[in-house]
Amino acid sequence: MSSHQLPSYLDPNDLGPWGIYLQQIERVTPYLGSLSRWVETLKRPKRVLIVDVPVELDNGTIAHFEGYRIQHNTSRGPGKGGVRFHQDVTLSEVMALSAWMSIKNAAVGVPYGGAKGGIRLDPKTLNIKELERVTRRYTSEIGIIIGPNKDIPAPDVNTNEQIMAWMMDTYSMNLGSTSTGVVTGKPVALGGSLGRKEATGRGVFVTGAEAAKRLGIELKNARVVVQGFGNVGGIAARLFSEAGAKIIAVQDHKGCLFNESGFNIPELLSYSSQSGSIYNYPHGQAVSQDDFWSIESDFLIPAALENQITIKNANKIKTKIIVEGANGPTTPDADDILKDNGILVIPDVVANAGGVTVSYFEWVQDFSSFFWTEDEINQRLVRVMTEAFTAVWGVAQDKNVSLRTAAYIVACSRILQAREMRGLYP
Ligand code: GLU
Repeated sequence: MSSHQLPSYLDPNDLGPWGIYLQQIERVTPYLGSLSRWVETLKRPKRVLIVDVPVELDNGTIAHFEGYRIQHNTSRGPGKGGVRFHQDVTLSEVMALSAWMSIKNAAVGVPYGGAKGGIRLDPKTLNIKELERVTRRYTSEIGIIIGPNKDIPAPDVNTNEQIMAWMMDTYSMNLGSTSTGVVTGKPVALGGSLGRKEATGRGVFVTGAEAAKRLGIELKNARVVVQGFGNVGGIAARLFSEAGAKIIAVQDHKGCLFNESGFNIPELLSYSSQSGSIYNYPHGQAVSQDDFWSIESDFLIPAALENQITIKNANKIKTKIIVEGANGPTTPDADDILKDNGILVIPDVVANAGGVTVSYFEWVQDFSSFFWTEDEINQRLVRVMTEAFTAVWGVAQDKNVSLRTAAYIVACSRILQAREMRGLYP
């Protein structure tokens, strides 16, 4: 990889998730025709903001957290993407996540560029008041680059409606007027959208079902394995089980459980929300991480963090369809192994785009102060996801490439066409 592709603030020996993203861009470049002239645009974020977030803890000490907001691309519209609170957040990770948002938003055709934010902190170590102070100070620090027409944050790993409410309030207080459209994923009472919370999981289900139709796999009694039982994995599991599928294995941060005849998902969801984990749930058998990946299934849904399916475990996977609920769960090397083994991968930038699609609906509703019914939202969501999946499937067939490369062909062409039409300033 030549060094001119790397912003100098990244360590070339430790590219992390950004390195994976660059490999994905390398793979799509031969398919971009004359637009490849602009491809360098995608290899560096437009704007990177790193902020210090100092907060007084209840024990009197002053803690400093590292915060980020990165706008990868704004050729097709304002930046858009979530904010993640996690102890392992790094610059490389947030850069990759912001770029994946550019690709995702273009792949499903919502009029946004890509952005992402994060704070390097373990939210479990703070009480609710401390978490509020961190959120508010972070929002104030990134306030210079966000806004309803500039860059619109949303929930991601370990962030939720309450955090969006604090972000909206902080931005609005600094502005002097209430600006609901500055973040999405807000509580419904504050300009949030019905259906937003379930939207990512619903999109995972819709794209999984579309793929199953094409491969002739019945959802009834299909065996489903889910990694991550939070907002994405939990909802996807519920929808698959409502369609008659059996959720036979689940993994969360505390461990993995297996149940040959399929879990009672509503019961497991309420157990996990009460006790904070699926750990010790009585109606399942504990399995090791290693065994988890080799459980035979029809669908495998990674819905946790990036870098989960790698050369270390890709060969063990015995499934038919992988639906990427998480962002970046599969490395390019693992992609190759899965392809050789005849496993279909529905890439993150399509499979988990339901969340940002309903974020887009929320933003539109906020601008017009006119709110839609949940049915309208779900119908529109299904339409956007089905159309995006169908378009990507068509390109994959046409060019004989993976669904990921096809999604990147569609998305990068849209971004770079916009880039070319806008032209360089000055
Ligand atoms: N964090 C979600 C994602 O990774 C949603 C982003 C949004 O709604 O802006 O797609």
